[in-house]
Amino acid sequence: LVPVITIDGPSASGKGTVAQRVAAALGFHYLDSGALYRLTALAAERRGVVWRDELAVAKLAGELDAVFDGAAVLLDGNNVTEAIRSEGIGIGASVVAALPAVRSALLARQHAFAEAPGLVADGRDMGSVVFPDARLKVFLTASAQARAERRHKQLLAAGEPADLAAIAADLESRDARDRARKVAPLQQWADALLLDTTDMGVDEAVEQVLSWWKN
Ligand code: C5P
Repeated sequence: LVPVITIDGPSASGKGTVAQRVAAALGFHYLDSGALYRLTALAAERRGVVWRDELAVAKLAGELDAVFDGAAVLLDGNNVTEAIRSEGIGIGASVVAALPAVRSALLARQHAFAEAPGLVADGRDMGSVVFPDARLKVFLTASAQARAERRHKQLLAAGEPADLAAIAADLESRDARDRARKVAPLQQWADALLLDTTDMGVDEAVEQVLSWWKN
């Protein structure tokens, strides 16, 4: 059985950065499951399919021609690494992610990432739905204020126009939708360890996960 570490949590909590660093430290594979929902939203937009059209979007999700090449993400052979990170596509991702048929269509693709020597998977339902037998489950969060500031910094660094109040509002509505949906709602599962990174740097967060893993 391939060892799996799951890191779930809300938007802009820093779980992606922490998950990638933990994977690198252990020599494990890394799954950014949010990227699959973002790719699905982008594929729909590019084909003129509306995000709420469950069957059409699920079909696209099942046929997604996506390649993860190091830090780069390709869709239909085109580099979309930056395109999938926009706030608009983040919102689209949370719309398509609420559709059960879309979630099922992406399940097998996520399972395929669990290869030797191990996997670190980040998302919303990694520990609950996709890898319920994971050896270590972490719920990584931070205050709404800290998360908005982190996303703001990220967008500025990427050269995107960014307004802190608008970002805070976006995060809040996205998290509310992720929490309220019927399928795979965002929540801390009973068997997940809580890591609140509000007052914690990345190094410290990575160290904590690694020490849980070793003990
Ligand atoms: O983590 P990220 O911000 O990239 O995720 C984008 C959206 O995809 C989330 O707001 C959520 O609605 C959805 N998602 C999900 N399940 C996952 C990962 C992401 O529903 N495992």
